[in-house]
Amino acid sequence: MADAKENLVVVTGAGGFIGGNLVSALRARGYKRLRALDIKPREQWYQWFDDVENLCLDLNLRENCELAARGAYEIYNLAANMGGMGFIEHNKALCMLSVLINTHMLQEALNSGVERFFYSSSACVYNGEKQKTFAASSLKEEDAYPALAEDGYGWEKLFSERMCRHFSEDFNLCTRVARFHNVYGPWGTWFGGREKAPAAICRKVIEAKVSGKHEIEIWGSGNQTRSFMFIDDCIKGIDLIMHSGITEPINLGSSEAVTINNLVDIAEEIAGITLKRNYDLDAPKGVNGRNSDNTLIKKYLNWEPNTSLRTGLEVTYRWIYDQYMARQRGEAGIARKSAAQR
Ligand code: NAD
Repeated sequence: MADAKENLVVVTGAGGFIGGNLVSALRARGYKRLRALDIKPREQWYQWFDDVENLCLDLNLRENCELAARGAYEIYNLAANMGGMGFIEHNKALCMLSVLINTHMLQEALNSGVERFFYSSSACVYNGEKQKTFAASSLKEEDAYPALAEDGYGWEKLFSERMCRHFSEDFNLCTRVARFHNVYGPWGTWFGGREKAPAAICRKVIEAKVSGKHEIEIWGSGNQTRSFMFIDDCIKGIDLIMHSGITEPINLGSSEAVTINNLVDIAEEIAGITLKRNYDLDAPKGVNGRNSDNTLIKKYLNWEPNTSLRTGLEVTYRWIYDQYMARQRGEAGIARKSAAQR
């Protein structure tokens, strides 16, 4: 078709963090026909746009995936049952059930004849044996095999990656797979148990600052190493990978490795306070060291996520601070209202 922006683009998981930001970015890029789907009721979506076709549907069910994919030109499949370590360590079966979404969405994408299908995989597919030391091992794409993925969530991601590959090889469906490494930024989960480390640390620092109780609880020893990708880099990377010729799963993550203690240092610096650190060694903490090896993405795209953690965390901290203060005032709806008006 002459102008791809006239075609129907579908985003699943659009009530969530990355999906909501993706819909927002697609609107800003001039896409005119967008369909956004999520299982959550409307009032729980982080972002909601009135000029988008918004559907609240359970994509575990095949008939709903048929509705989701009908007439679609491109599909970004981001819907999944997920959260930070606290969630995925305690909800392995629930995480694995996302295989229903991915199976049915692939089948219906094929049936509806989509041009391209994007699947959001995760760094949790990588072999745990390669992430045992605190010195963050930079994980190359080939390090997913021999497979020893994160129990539950990671195995489901690895299986669904392979389904994408075989739908592509056997049925000629054009699939693109990115392995996201920890994504953070505004319009994401920052409380409630599914939040990831950057949002959780920002919230805890804000709570300490507001309450005057200058202490923070840290899960594990704080020596665990990770990299964190700012949401704007994630959204840009999704677009580049979706419209590239990259047929294999590829890392989409920052290569700036930091310890959780470093992350707290940065959040404290932004807040202008220093906290007494209490380490909970029994809390879920995930692997000891993990970083993204970006050799492949740089080779293919001549680009890698490059927003510094200091810059991205400052934006995120300010956003969570505003959300926190709004909740304190009993204004739970601030995110949705302001999103719809943008
Ligand atoms: P999120 O939890 O904010 O968004 C996922 C959305 O999927 C949620 O709004 C949820 O309600 C929806 N969903 C779950 N089950 C559904 C169902 N049956 N039908 C319809 N919708 C359903 O998570 P996110 O951070 O935006 O993650 C998006 C994708 O990226 C997920 O596939 C996730 O596994 C992947 N990912 C994220 C990260 C990260 O750091 N955020 C890292 C690696 C991979």
